[in-house]
Amino acid sequence: MRGITIEVTARKAYEEFLKHSNENLESRVAQRTAELTKANEALAQSNLELQQFAYVAAHDLQTPLRSIGGFAQLLAESYRGRLDAQADVWLDTLVRSAQRMHDLIRDLLGYSRVDSQGSPFKPTDFNQLCREVLEALDGSIRGTSGKITLDPLPIVYGDRTQLGQLLQNLIDNGLKYHGQEAPRIHISASRSEGEWVFAVRDNGIGIARKHLESVFDIFRRLHTQKKYPGTGIGLAVCRRVVHRHGGRIWVESEPGRGSTFYFTLPDRAKAESALAA
Ligand code: ADP
Repeated sequence: MRGITIEVTARKAYEEFLKHSNENLESRVAQRTAELTKANEALAQSNLELQQFAYVAAHDLQTPLRSIGGFAQLLAESYRGRLDAQADVWLDTLVRSAQRMHDLIRDLLGYSRVDSQGSPFKPTDFNQLCREVLEALDGSIRGTSGKITLDPLPIVYGDRTQLGQLLQNLIDNGLKYHGQEAPRIHISASRSEGEWVFAVRDNGIGIARKHLESVFDIFRRLHTQKKYPGTGIGLAVCRRVVHRHGGRIWVESEPGRGSTFYFTLPDRAKAESALAA
């Protein structure tokens, strides 16, 4: 009897200990979750403030810059050849720099707008969208003797304007970064689990392996302004657009042998939850 009593008491004590440990663990998990939620909220808030700051700064810089650019242009037109040769060079540099800053601010504003001024998602026919983008790029396509081919493309769920921008940036780069041969670009899409995988393939100069990820960073450029003009914001916009749609973007490439940019767009339910997040 005594032996049984001791065993029951020990078991009870052990159960008590387990219960206590469990409660303790649960309360620590709850506390940690609350801390993480708070940290996440603070991070989201500071992200939002940073975005707003970038937008307002870029927006407000436009007005004085317009004035600098306008007067630089006026000076160059009115005084070219009337001062000395050095002054002409300085005036041209001034006009070019104002134009460059204008391009950077325009693209930076576009980048800031992806999250803050996106439109609601709708079913979007990529065949139709591609036709519109090709029309918009008609000048560059003719100018480079480029050829663009399309496979039948799906209808996806997303922000039509932003998806057009994504396509336009990728095709535009394919036209711009071409090698000796005229640009050839092919656009296709394949079905994978719960998503579409799009591919924009070109026959251009390609990208070295070490740069395959960093090309999507804002202001990241691999060439001089003289060789290939640009602001280094196009692919950052593409990445932001794809992320807003709950997808992924990456590039596979071999220098001298062209690049293929891939991006995924999830089915409607997943895209909607990405938008709500
Ligand atoms: P930008 O074209 O204005 O420089 P992007 O963000 O569109 O900016 O591209 C970043 C860099 O990635 C480019 O400067 C270029 O070096 C490289 N790049 C982008 N697209 C291609 C491509 N299709 N082929 C080769 N290099 C590319």
